[in-house]
Parts: sequence; C-alpha cells; structure tokens
Amino acid sequence: MIHTRHGWWLEETGEVAPAPPLEGDTTADVVIVGGGYLGMWTAWHLLALEPELELVLLETALCGHGPSGRNGGFCETLWGDAPTLREEAGDAAALAVCRASEQAVRGIGAWCAANEVDAWFREAPMLRVATTESQVGSWDGIVDTAAALGAPAEVVSVSADDVRARCASPLFLGGALYRLNATVQPARLALGLRAKLLERGVRIHERTEATRLERDGSVQARAGRVRASSAVLAVNSAAAGFPGYRLSLAVASSHIVLTEPIPEVLEEIGWTGGEAIVDSLTLVHYTRTTRDGRIVFGWGGGSMGFGGRAADRLELDPGVIARTRESLVRFFPQLRGRAVTHAWGGPIDVSPSHLPIFGSRGRVHHGFGFTGNGVGPSYLGGEILARLALDRRDERTALAIVEPSRKLFPPEPFRYAGGSLIRRALLAKDAAEDAGRKPRALTAFAAALPRRLGLRLPR
Ligand SMILES: Cc1cc2nc3c(=O)[nH]c(=O)nc-3n(C[C@H](O)[C@H](O)[C@H](O)COP(=O)(O)OP(=O)(O)OC[C@H]3O[C@@H](n4cnc5c(N)ncnc54)[C@H](O)[C@@H]3O)c2cc1C
Repeated sequence: MIHTRHGWWLEETGEVAPAPPLEGDTTADVVIVGGGYLGMWTAWHLLALEPELELVLLETALCGHGPSGRNGGFCETLWGDAPTLREEAGDAAALAVCRASEQAVRGIGAWCAANEVDAWFREAPMLRVATTESQVGSWDGIVDTAAALGAPAEVVSVSADDVRARCASPLFLGGALYRLNATVQPARLALGLRAKLLERGVRIHERTEATRLERDGSVQARAGRVRASSAVLAVNSAAAGFPGYRLSLAVASSHIVLTEPIPEVLEEIGWTGGEAIVDSLTLVHYTRTTRDGRIVFGWGGGSMGFGGRAADRLELDPGVIARTRESLVRFFPQLRGRAVTHAWGGPIDVSPSHLPIFGSRGRVHHGFGFTGNGVGPSYLGGEILARLALDRRDERTALAIVEPSRKLFPPEPFRYAGGSLIRRALLAKDAAEDAGRKPRALTAFAAALPRRLGLRLPR
C-alpha cells in the first residue's frame, strides 16, 4: 500500500506545470485567496457575471492539490442538514438552501458537459445505511423534514432488502435514500476547473502564500501585494489561522483507502449502480466505486484538534488508516486478501452548525465550514461569494447560509483537550454500538457534549 500525500486521484489525473508565483505588486478587480473548489468556482461565477473582470488567484501550493483534489468525490446536496436549517431558519429558508444545493449538483454536471471536462460525473442516489441496530431509523428526522418541507421524494426510508439490492454488504440493516447525488473524480474536476480559468485569463499565482488580508480588499503575500476592490478568503481549514476566524471553525481530518480494481467483487455484491454510501456513525464511514472498478473507502475518524496542534497529523495518520482498512473488510468481507493500493488523508473544516458559512467583513468575503460536504456546496458557495464580491444581492445572497447567526467554538484550553476527549468518547461510543452494546454513561455524556454546547459534529 502506498501512503501518498496527495492521493490516487491526482496521480490518475496527471501532473500540471505550476503557474508562476506572485513577485512584486499588482492590481485586480477581485483577488481570491485559495485555489480549491471554492476559490476556483468563485472565479468562474465572477466571470459568468462580468466577463471582463480582472481576477487574481493566489494559491499557497498548487490549485486542486488540497482536499479538493483528494476527497471521496461525493457530490452531495445539503438535504442531510435540512433539520438544522429548519430549526434555525424556518421552513421556507430551509427549502431554499436545499433546492439551491440541488442546483449546484446539477450545475457541476452541466459544467463538466459544457466544458468537456471528463470528471467522471455520475448521477446516482446516495444511501445512508445502518450498520448496527442502534443506527436504524437515525435518519427519520431528515426523512420527516423533507416531507414537511413538501419534498417527500428527496429522502426516503428504505428497507434492508432494498439497500442490499443495491449493495449486498452483510452489515447493512436498512437506510435512507437521497434521490439526488453524484460522484466525481475530484482531482479531474479541480484541475479541469483550473485549466478553464487559465484559458479565461484568470491570473493564477501558485506557490504563493497570502499572509495578510486587509479590510479594504488588498492582500499581502510574501513577495508581493495585490490591491483589489474585493478579496475572497477560500482557504478551508487554514481560515482558522487568519485573525478573527480562529473560533469560527474546528479542524478534524478524514482518511481514505483505495482497493485495487475488483470489478468481479462489485458484480458479486450487485454494486454496479454508482451509489455513494455512508453509514450513520458520528465519525462517519463513506464508500463508493470508481470507473475502473475499485472501492474508495473513507473514515472521518482522524484527529479532531479544534486547531493548530493536531494539524500536523491530519494528512497521514497510519493508525487511522489501519482502522479504516479494517472497516473496509468488515463492510465487504470478500475483500479479505485483496490489495489496498493507496491511502491518504486531509483536513476537514468543521463548522459549529455543520453547515458552510459565507459572509463579509469589510471588503473581505469568506467561505468555510463545509464539514466534509464541500464538493457540491462549493459550487453554490462560489455563486454566493461572486455576488458578495461584486456587492450584488439576489436569492443566492439571501440564503440562510449567508451571514448566519454567529456561533463560535469554545477557546483554549477546551479547544485542544476538549477535542481529543470528545473524539475518544465518539470512538468508544461508535465501537460499543458496532459491538451491539450500549455505550457507558460517561462515554455517552462526553460524546453528547458538542450537542449540549450547541455544536453539531458530522452526521
Ligand atoms: C479525505 C477527505 C475526503 C473528503 N470527502 C469528501 C466527499 O466525499 N464529499 C464532499 O463533499 N467533501 C469531501 N471532503 C471535503 C471537501 O474536500 C472540501 O469540503 C472541499 O474540497 C473544500 O474546498 P475548498 O476550496 O474550501 O478547500 P481546499 O480544497 O482545501 O482549498 C483551499 C486552498 O487554499 C490554499 N491555501 C490555504 N492557505 C492559503 C494561504 N494562506 N494563501 C494561499 N492559499 C492558501 C490551500 O493550499 C488549498 O489549495 C473530503 C475531505 C477530505 C480531506
């Protein structure tokens, strides 16, 4: 098994020649910091609104080589967050966000087709499954909310037989089916977008770290400065390092293992429909197939640091990878003895509400907090940030994920110590439930702490 920093998707896509770093001072209409999906979709949507804009994009490494190029490739809607949205913003606002997130999934598919970017975009439903009795029905709140919002077909409960007809894992005991979902080859999407932006004349500077953002919209990098009317901060978990954002997000990690091509196993278990699958644990397992017949299997159970100190372990944690591999074989016993060829990981920007957050401070506009669901929603985030950067208001900027009521993570010492404690409790709780036991009272108490503090961790 190869542990790679950037993951197999980028290897499969092929290398790109780096764009030149920023040297000296320059000007632009809008400067974008961060060359992941969010920064790049923002550039794309800015040009859709005003084709003549001068755009500069600064990326500390290479565009698309962060989480955008190495994620699981689940291109999801925000229906999973519908209960939170409804509780915090009401019925109409919740429905508007969920519908906009559907348009984002379709928008990515349409963009790939129109721009002839073969990002392996494949529409197929997503299954949220139960792998223990205690998880059965854990999706009821989402199913009920979809129905209450007048969209009963978007998320429906399905029986164990229905789930196994789509993917016959012995662990699956029932689930919920999300009607609209897609999978992509994430690096092909990210690098395809980068290539189209370069074609459209966006001045991309790679290997250029932004060190300071001014409220007037200018951005300082190590070897130069960009003066602009607006700046967009789209740096994922690195936002926690910019003044004023530290308590707005926590940083966790997710890791992936990839099998060798096993098309005959996929045939045997009937998993040929392209469904993306997640389980119902807080530290979620997620799995999907690839065009060349492999299984991608991920786990959001890596370190949870609420900031700096844990960040070193986010990219590659051998212990987490070993556990992820064990879970892969529990889900699919046919894979015992089959090769896992690659493993990698990366940071996750966890927001207090589990929903992405967009907004402005002066002429600096920000987006972060995708909490492991950024592939689809970053397209919508790009539409929002493009409008904020041009000071235009419409139905996108009126969505409840723009300037939501401010929630913060607690400061130190809770931040680091609390993050580790809660992660241990969540691991123990998930392990007890996996073994069919009830978690101990103290474990259940600690695992429930984030919710008691008003924080919502993934799923
Ligand atoms: C292992 C893993 C699996 C995942 N699976 C899924 C999934 O299946 N589905 C899903 O929806 N989401 C998934 N995610 C999350 C998803 O990848 C992200 O939500 C999404 O890529 C966020 O895009 P982004 O543009 O905000 O961030 P990024 O892709 O991280 O881009 C931010 C960029 O900013 C750059 N940057 C940082 N600091 C600076 C600076 N100071 N100056 C200049 N540039 C800077 C970084 O180098 C980076 O390229 C996963 C994440 C990981 C790590």
